[in-house]
Amino acid sequence: MEILIHYAGEIGIKGKNRPLFEKKLLDNIRSSIRKIGYNKLKKTYRRISIELKSDYEKDKILNLLSCIPGIAYYCLAETCPLNIEEIKNTALNLAKKLNPKTFCISTNRSNKNFNLQSGEINETVGKYITENLKNKVDLEHHDLVIFIEIAEDKAYLYTKKIKGLGGLPVGVTGKLIALISGGIDSPVAALRMLKRGCSIVLLHFHNYSQHSQNVKNKILDLSKILSKFQFKTKLYNIDFKLIQQEIVKKIPSEFRMIIYRRLMFKIGEEFLKKELASGFVTGDSLAQVASQTIENLQVINEITKFPIFSPLIGSDKLDIIKEAKEIGTYDISVLPYEDCCSYLVAQHPITKSNLEEIKKLEEKLNINELIQLALKNYEYKEFINLSN
Ligand code: ATP
Ligand code: MG
Repeated sequence: MEILIHYAGEIGIKGKNRPLFEKKLLDNIRSSIRKIGYNKLKKTYRRISIELKSDYEKDKILNLLSCIPGIAYYCLAETCPLNIEEIKNTALNLAKKLNPKTFCISTNRSNKNFNLQSGEINETVGKYITENLKNKVDLEHHDLVIFIEIAEDKAYLYTKKIKGLGGLPVGVTGKLIALISGGIDSPVAALRMLKRGCSIVLLHFHNYSQHSQNVKNKILDLSKILSKFQFKTKLYNIDFKLIQQEIVKKIPSEFRMIIYRRLMFKIGEEFLKKELASGFVTGDSLAQVASQTIENLQVINEITKFPIFSPLIGSDKLDIIKEAKEIGTYDISVLPYEDCCSYLVAQHPITKSNLEEIKKLEEKLNINELIQLALKNYEYKEFINLSN
């Protein structure tokens, strides 16, 4: 038994970069399944194959593959030598096992040296099965498709395609710092960027005076889930308490949220440089909360020159919730917690902030000192791919 992996169509059209993308995907798969026994992992023409050991743990390995960005779909395949008699018999055995009323054969011949063309293989194998089993070939309405792939050194036969995550392999497009709160949006945003080929380092600002342990556990649990999608996930948990106290002391409540968030980027820049990352990810979604009006986002984002990616900016909350449920972060995100952004802010924070006004208010703070404070007070954790 082997697993045949089809990588996402997008990788296929990457022109000169394709070998790089393919290699990254191969490396990511290797890292992910390293603890599971397998015989061989290799790239064949536009596919990756994993030769399994006889006592392979099927569910574990399929589960791992379901979390690797860059995979379009994958299949548990029977293999046989490149010989039409062998192919016929392997297909017949598959049909016997599944015994469909109607079926069809779909062949893909990437190895053009094979002596029969795809259509001829479909016909020959289809005929052989109907003769032996009396099942009917029906090209339009069938219970079963037997897929045959003619690769360089063997044929792969399978009947089920399992959908993968799609997207691009983690690491091909760059590295970003993801600002993770305990809410629903930010983990979904981080995963969206993971699927665009970015590796992600998590950064959380923590107010230790609020239901401290709950929030901390929440962030750890969210980080564990995100670590399924990339090999290694780093989390910096920054103590925001003293910084927030300083802001509460000096800034009127309606402006605090804007300044908290500006400071998150300013402090975030230090971690970005430390990690050699190139930008930020946030869970902002336009107009979802007061901090996310066009005017406020402009003022918040102005503080950093690094690019800020907010992939949920145009998404509806219901769609974000659906995605959060699919990836398994929703149940953790909805546990009650006090978001540090809502810590001592006005009931009705301003929705149209003015940059000059905010900058003037910030003059009351010693921002460099606050950055130094953050750099002295953080916890660091690493999670190594936890999907198995
Ligand atoms: P989320 O559901 O992700 O918490 P939200 O809709 O509650 O988002 P805000 O609280 O305004 O919106 O936060 C917007 C974004 O700012 C978050 O998605 C996240 O990227 C970042 N952010 C907010 N609070 C924190 C925090 N404590 N630590 C790190 N990042 C944060
Ligand atoms: Mg929030």
